[in-house]
Amino acid sequence: MVKRACKDCKRILKGTTCPVCKTSNITTSFQGVIVIFDVESDVAKKLGITAPGKYAIKV
Ligand SMILES: [Zn+2]
Repeated sequence: MVKRACKDCKRILKGTTCPVCKTSNITTSFQGVIVIFDVESDVAKKLGITAPGKYAIKV
């Protein structure tokens, strides 16, 4: 299965639209995956992540 990532919020997606942004501004070429459990962590803040989940590091 081809993995996709939202270009706006960097969330890893299963479908072709982002459930958070409601956008189809997605890409199949992204680098690295990070799993965020704690949105208060330094990593989450650095990436601007506001909800737990899987995210691409670079899109
Ligand atoms: Zn998004």
